Amino acid sequence: MDKKTGSCLCGDVQFVIMGDLRDSVACHCIQCRKTSGHFVSATAVSKDEFKITVDKGLKWYHSSNRARRGFCNNCGSSLFWDQEGRDQMGIMSGTIDGETGIKTSNHIYVAKKGDYYDLDDALPKHKTYPQK
Ligand SMILES: [Zn+2]
Ligand SMILES: [Zn+2]
Repeated sequence: MDKKTGSCLCGDVQFVIMGDLRDSVACHCIQCRKTSGHFVSATAVSKDEFKITVDKGLKWYHSSNRARRGFCNNCGSSLFWDQEGRDQMGIMSGTIDGETGIKTSNHIYVAKKGDYYDLDDALPKHKTYPQK
């Protein structure tokens, strides 16, 4: 498959994706709201098929004891969600250049969503994290 690229707004963080992207998941949790200013839609790719090519601006914030969020220290873009022990890297879908080729699959943590917008699409909506 074709390589995809992505970056933060200023270019101080850039990355390459060599593998298939998971469909994007819209997350309305408090952390995603605070880091993005709205809600987040994130995809994921195997860490073996993902490479950070420019990390000049990359900074990691430990948002919980099991996960960290990667952002650009210069322009403030929110880029990555990295859970300890997980073999996939979460990537904010809007940071990928051009066409992603994926769709949004569902909404999670809708119990925490803001009151200033409605979710009126037909996608599954989970109060918290979907049960397996
Ligand atoms: Zn930047
Ligand atoms: Zn979230």
